[in-house]
Amino acid sequence: MKTVDNFNFKDKKALIRVDFNVPLDGDLNVTDTSRIEAAKPTIIKVLEDGGSAILMSHLGRPKGQANPDMSLKHICSKVAEVIGVTVKFSDDCVGTTAEEAVRNLKSGEVLLLENLRFHAAEEKGDKDFASQLAKLGDIYINDAFGTAHRAHASTTIVAEFFPENKCFGYLLAKEIESIDKVMQTGEKPVTAILGGSKVSSKITIIENILDKVDHLIIGGGMTYTFIKAQGGKVGNSICEDDKQELALNILKQAKEKGVEVHLPVDVLAADGFSNDANTQVVSVNEIPDGWEGLDAGPKTLENFKEVILKSKTILWNGPIGVFELPTFAKGTIAIGNYIDEATSKGAFSLVGGGDSVAAVKQFGFEDKVSYVSTGGGAMLESLEGKNLPGIAAIL
Ligand code: AMP
Repeated sequence: MKTVDNFNFKDKKALIRVDFNVPLDGDLNVTDTSRIEAAKPTIIKVLEDGGSAILMSHLGRPKGQANPDMSLKHICSKVAEVIGVTVKFSDDCVGTTAEEAVRNLKSGEVLLLENLRFHAAEEKGDKDFASQLAKLGDIYINDAFGTAHRAHASTTIVAEFFPENKCFGYLLAKEIESIDKVMQTGEKPVTAILGGSKVSSKITIIENILDKVDHLIIGGGMTYTFIKAQGGKVGNSICEDDKQELALNILKQAKEKGVEVHLPVDVLAADGFSNDANTQVVSVNEIPDGWEGLDAGPKTLENFKEVILKSKTILWNGPIGVFELPTFAKGTIAIGNYIDEATSKGAFSLVGGGDSVAAVKQFGFEDKVSYVSTGGGAMLESLEGKNLPGIAAIL
């Protein structure tokens, strides 16, 4: 795997695909700089070698049209502040404007190009557009994991124009390494904790990881499809009736593959989907009519704790309760604590894909797990076992 460490950027212009799709407030100020900070090490490496950095990204969904509210010029000063050098701006990402700006760029300088998605050709993966981008740099670096599952011009097609001179930035390399640590080279026992609302949205992930894990912990709303399929009473709990057979099939496959599946044994049930609802702990198989399971119960958490603490590699995707409502967040917080404890004893833990990342950030576990993925959709597709075009294009 070629990374920026395989290159010396002295007097080279590095064309870097970053993910600066950052949140802006009503006055177009950046409200969260995490994505800019995540790209910083790669940019600094290029500058410290004596090269210059040309940054390209999308922002929002302008759908192929220039849209002043989605101009990257609004984030230019924030990028400069985070990176610690002046950042020049080009009003277009291709054509004479961009080429002129690149010509004037000196070693040690940074240029930010206008939003790639102001051109419809970007998302179409247009080859001519990609060749215009390619003209701007000597070496292409992809450091945007969040768009690595898209075969867009700047994430995938552009790489064709750099047969030798292309590599991963530090952020993308770290994402790939972390996924590999779970899916390929992870120390055993390997445990996946899958939560979230529906079996249907996680089915491909479950099927793919059954070949990689020793333990599969299932929690959250997914639980009830499994429980009902096995004859339990789930009351008003979220349940996909048409996925019951699939759930039984997953349990059968797991057994054949020697994967131990851990389902909740008790749950915190509520008489309404509200923080102020009445609650009671009940057996997962005996949820009364009119009640719904919204969080894991104490015995379940004890069981999950035991599995997590003996694991050497842990993947967490999806909250195990309705963590947005404080009454039902305790199970998800407990899981975070167990992973924290396992990690401090030497386990490798990866949190990725959607709401578990939000939960980890909200409850302050970000620095307590080994790695929190930056890419929602890209992470989910990796866990599903798909080859991401942005990664394949560099390999
Ligand atoms: P997903 O996007 O599939 O990972 O699902 C995340 C959502 O699942 C979160 O918004 C949680 O509130 C929700 N969730 C977790 N547990 C339950 C549950 N027992 N009942 C209903 N929704 C749940």
